[in-house]
Amino acid sequence: MKIGRFEVEQLSEGIFDVFEDGTFQKIDAGNITSKKTESEVPRNATHIGIDPLLIRDGNRVILIDTGLGWGLDAKSTYTDTSNLKTNLDIFGLTPDDVTHVVLSHLHFDHAAGSTFVDDSATTQPTLSNANYFVQKLEWHYAIQRVGEANPVKGGDYNMDELYKLHAEEKLVLITDTYFELVPGITLIKTGGHTPGHQIVKIQDADETAYFLGDLVPSEFHLNQYVMKQMDIDPIQSKKAKTLILRQAVKEKAALFFYHSIHVKNGVLVQDEENRYALLDVK
Ligand SMILES: [Zn+2]
Repeated sequence: MKIGRFEVEQLSEGIFDVFEDGTFQKIDAGNITSKKTESEVPRNATHIGIDPLLIRDGNRVILIDTGLGWGLDAKSTYTDTSNLKTNLDIFGLTPDDVTHVVLSHLHFDHAAGSTFVDDSATTQPTLSNANYFVQKLEWHYAIQRVGEANPVKGGDYNMDELYKLHAEEKLVLITDTYFELVPGITLIKTGGHTPGHQIVKIQDADETAYFLGDLVPSEFHLNQYVMKQMDIDPIQSKKAKTLILRQAVKEKAALFFYHSIHVKNGVLVQDEENRYALLDVK
């Protein structure tokens, strides 16, 4: 779809069960029949989507988050899983065509596709011609978490991949709260979920869209706050979410969700009772 001059596409890797220990398992989308509410989802497993965002702007090819990365590694057992390579191929692109990578944060379900293991068992950057833009605070927090006893469930860092990106000087560590990636695309540090969590604002002409990362992971999270146990700083999350959603309504902005399985995007509106709803993006 179009947001001003930008071509925006969601690259879906499929639907996954997430277990309490933080592991992921791909499931057959055909097995999900009815629209479940958050309270109907079994407590020990939650269905989530994984949907990196592709933005094309002339010769610029921008990727927001890199997915699970399964199926890219030479020795991966997950060969039937969609991944960046197979999804970029749909648009006639290869990983080498990507010019910019933005990582909302460094949890492995958002960043693991950043690297892959080649035939000689060496970790390599997947998007070899791109710089990876991440908040400096996030990088330092990820390093600090190494060796800590109680990592947050489902929110782990995979340091081998991150060290490799750093060693190859692919990481651009951002210290600004608002960072202009290219004209019309701004990275906004929100914190909350992790100290260096950032979202992406896309704006051209009078059209606006947001990629919200784990600030608002799916449409279920618009009107309820169920991330409490996942967020490092729940108060900051709630504050950032309130401000961004309020702004998005004013701007008639489209939202793109990373973890939705039913409604993956929509134009944000608010009804008379101040509840959020989504309209189809034109
Ligand atoms: Zn996360």
